[in-house]
Amino acid sequence: MLKRCGRRLLLALAGALLACLLVLTADPPPPPVPAERGRRALRSLAGPSGAATAPGLEAAAAGAPGAPVREVRSLSEYFSLLTRSRRDAGPPPGGASRPADGRPRPPAEPLAPSDVFIAVKTTKKFHRARLDLLLETWISRHEEMTFIFTDGEDEALARRTGHVVNTNCSAAHSRQALSCKMAVEYDRFIESGRKWFCHVDDDNYVNVRALLRLLGSYPHTQDVYLGKPSLDRPIQATERVSENTVRPVHFWFATGGAGFCISRGLALKMSPWASGGHFMSTAERIRLPDDCTIGYIVEALLGVPLVRCGLFHSHLENLQQVPASELHEQVTLSYGMFENKRNAVHIKGPFSVEADPSRFRSVHCHLYPDTPWCPRTAIF
Ligand code: UDP
Ligand code: MN
Repeated sequence: MLKRCGRRLLLALAGALLACLLVLTADPPPPPVPAERGRRALRSLAGPSGAATAPGLEAAAAGAPGAPVREVRSLSEYFSLLTRSRRDAGPPPGGASRPADGRPRPPAEPLAPSDVFIAVKTTKKFHRARLDLLLETWISRHEEMTFIFTDGEDEALARRTGHVVNTNCSAAHSRQALSCKMAVEYDRFIESGRKWFCHVDDDNYVNVRALLRLLGSYPHTQDVYLGKPSLDRPIQATERVSENTVRPVHFWFATGGAGFCISRGLALKMSPWASGGHFMSTAERIRLPDDCTIGYIVEALLGVPLVRCGLFHSHLENLQQVPASELHEQVTLSYGMFENKRNAVHIKGPFSVEADPSRFRSVHCHLYPDTPWCPRTAIF
């Protein structure tokens, strides 16, 4: 009886295996659908000085929209793709173990707002269109932490806050201009003596309470690079090592549009490649945008792995998927366009989508209901 059952089971298993193989051979599932991620970094290269022909992006572009989707021709190729996407989600190349999730852990050290330096990158044409909204919302609560890096004089802005840094960088959206701003942000942070450096764009909402909780769970003297990658695999770049020599390099980087943070301990180690004029020359070495250059210095040159944190959000992801009930835990939010549609977090009132398209005012009233301009009867 037992023998017959065993034989039947064996036959059934063999049949199932054969069926699986047939299905896979006849119709191999497509490789992972190219995500929206990566567009930002790739688009940043399209300017006149960051020609789209920049070397080294080919492999990364294979996972980006608009790039040709590779056909999977054989079963072994399909399995190797699966293995690769598993590897991408796992430890980084080089074997260093990758911290899996940057959710706040038990507190490591109490942090005061004045321990953190938040650099907001902007440009003169966005002072009214974007920055005023931030000044009315999250920055109004945290002026001592926030420094605005821009490229043009603005008396109205200077009257509102003393923390404006005119970088004198070009106002172009070129790779060089953006790296120029990041270089000034880095130098100002080092001068400030603060424990943490965080960089955000002018379309980010920063939930400072959540940020302090997160940063307070890591010692600032250790090497910590926190943020969210925008690609689903390490970026493949070409590193210029001498006049005539280049070599491939791959590393993860936190997308600048979601914001990222770096501990003082790590920032000090970055100095040979980031301080003074060095950030610009390092960026030239890989010919990639500012946020990629940070990843290159931290991961590729210093061997410190990015701590991925799902609490940072850029408009390169579907922001509607951030649960309204968990808004108070999120460290950054954003708004903009995603797959040609308006992209913002989903939150009910107190302001309509027409009155508050970014949803930042509604989020702010949710987090700080005592704000004078928030309706008293706010319903969320
Ligand atoms: N930016 C800039 N100079 C420019 C255009 C943009 O410094 O000429 C800044 C902008 O203020 C923002 C960041 O670069 O902080 C990203 O710009 P944007 O959100 O327009 O582009 P994306 O998120 O699509 O990269
Ligand atoms: Mn943006």
